Amino acid sequence: MHYGEFDTASLMFITPRPELIFVRGDGSWLHDDTGKRYLDFVQGWAVNCLGHCPAEIREALADQAARLINPSPAFFNGPMTELAGLLTEHSCFDRVFFANTGAEANEGAIKLARKWGRMHKDGAYEIITFEHSFHGRTLATMSASGKPGWDTLFAPQVPGFPKARLNDLDSVGALIGDKTVAIMLEPVQGEGGVIPAEPGFLQALRDLTRAHGLLLIVDEVQTGMGRTGRLFAHEHAGIEPDIMTLGKGIGGGVPLSALLAKEAVCCFQPGDQGGTYNGNPLMTAVGAAVLRRLLSDGFLARVDTLGRYLESRLQALVTRHALAGERGAGLLRALILDSDRGPALVKAALDYAPEGLLLNAPRPNLLRFMPALTVTEAEIDRMIEILDTLLGAVRADAG
Ligand code: PMP
Repeated sequence: MHYGEFDTASLMFITPRPELIFVRGDGSWLHDDTGKRYLDFVQGWAVNCLGHCPAEIREALADQAARLINPSPAFFNGPMTELAGLLTEHSCFDRVFFANTGAEANEGAIKLARKWGRMHKDGAYEIITFEHSFHGRTLATMSASGKPGWDTLFAPQVPGFPKARLNDLDSVGALIGDKTVAIMLEPVQGEGGVIPAEPGFLQALRDLTRAHGLLLIVDEVQTGMGRTGRLFAHEHAGIEPDIMTLGKGIGGGVPLSALLAKEAVCCFQPGDQGGTYNGNPLMTAVGAAVLRRLLSDGFLARVDTLGRYLESRLQALVTRHALAGERGAGLLRALILDSDRGPALVKAALDYAPEGLLLNAPRPNLLRFMPALTVTEAEIDRMIEILDTLLGAVRADAG
C-alpha cells in the first residue's frame, strides 16, 4: 500500500495501522505527511516523557554520537556510569543493569529472582504475578503477564507464574508455597486498564514478602520516571522493593530500559546476564539527560499539579456525559465510559479536523491518557474540548 511517497508493502503485518504517516513531532504535537497536526495524548505509550524531539534528547544524541557510540558492553563507559549513579542516588536500589526494552528488563528481573532462589531458597523459582498484568512480549514475560488468552497463545508457557488478583491479599497468600521466590506487580496496571494497586495493598505485600523471605519486584516500566508525579510510583506507598524495572520513559523515546536491585539480591555471576547493547553510551547518555530534567527544580511537583488538573477536567466530563468514572495516578489516567465506544472514539479523535487527537483504548469501555510530562494546561484544555464534542457525537457502533 502507498501513502504519498511511502510504500508499506514490505513490512510484516502485526497490527492494523491508520492510513497516515507521521513525519515530524514537537512537544505534544505530531505532524503527518499531508501537513495535518495531531495532539498526542499517547506519546508512544507513555514513552516520550519530555514530548516529541525535546532539546535535551536531540543534544545528548548529537553530542554522544560525535564522541562514542559503541565501545562494546565488555567495557565501562561514561554515560552508563553517570546514569547508574543518578538512578541509585535517587532510588532505594544499589545497582543497575541496562537493557533495551521493558520486556528485557523484566526477563532480567525474573532471572535474578530465580538465581537468588537457587542460592538462598532451596531452588524456589515461582514468581506470583497478577491477573490482567502486563510485563512484555518475550515468552517468559508473556507467561508472567495476566492478559486473557496469553496462557494458550504460543503454548507451552514458561512455567512458574501463578496468578493472584490485584488488591486481594488473600489471593496472594493462598499461592505462597515452598517453590515461591517472589511477588511481581505493576504499581498501576497500565495495559490492564490503569488499575492502581492500593498503597495499603503494596504495604501489605511488602510485609508478606518479608514474613516469608520472598522478593518484591515492581515493574515500573510504565509508572516509573515521573509518570505518577513521584520519580517512582512505589514511593507513594512508602515501600522499598527488592527489585525494580524501568523502560519507556527512561529513554524518553529511544530504546533503553533498566533492572535495579538491592545489593543483597545482586547475585548474577559472569556469564549469567548480558546483551550486545547493555549500557550502550548513545542510549544511556539520553537516559541521563532525561533523568537530569526530571530531577530539575519543580519538575515532578509540576507533573503532580498537571495530573490533578487532568483528573479534574476528566471528572467534569464524567459528570456532563454520565460516564462510569475516572481513575489513575499523576499523568497516567483513564476515563471509564458508559459503553464499549472506546475504539470508535479513538478513531473519531484521529480523524478530527482541522487537528486530530491521539488517544488510546486499552479496553473497549476505557480511554487511557499518557501525555508528555511537559504537557501544558492549554493542551489539556484542547484535548478535553475535542473529547467533549466527540462524547456527545460518537456511539459504540460508529467505529
Ligand atoms: N511492563 C509494563 C508495565 C509495560 O507497560 C510494558 C509495555 N507496555 C512492558 C513491560 C513491556 O515493555 P516493552 O514493550 O518495552 O518490552
